[in-house]
Amino acid sequence: MKSKEEIIAEMQQVVEQMRLDDLEERPELEYEYFDCSCCGQTKSYAGSIQYGEYRLCNDCVLLAETGFALNKIKDVTDLINAMEDRRLEEICNFIKQDEQRHNN
Ligand SMILES: [Zn+2]
Repeated sequence: MKSKEEIIAEMQQVVEQMRLDDLEERPELEYEYFDCSCCGQTKSYAGSIQYGEYRLCNDCVLLAETGFALNKIKDVTDLINAMEDRRLEEICNFIKQDEQRHNN
């Protein structure tokens, strides 16, 4: 039985390796961006994963995979719901920035 810390360390390695593999195959991915379904931030495609209808950035993939490994979440929707508050905050910040741009 692995400890929680071991599982997290292992997942960090696995998920970072996914990103490196992506970049090895397609280096241009580093500069291709999308809006993560989970954290709502604009992130690089490198290391992102499509889970059903959602695409998650590498950081959120780590959260998702660690959540699965630790049995904290059943599916990606659980994680997305848990991140909802943070995502709304992101959207609000984005709107604020946009307003500032318009005002200047
Ligand atoms: Zn994300």
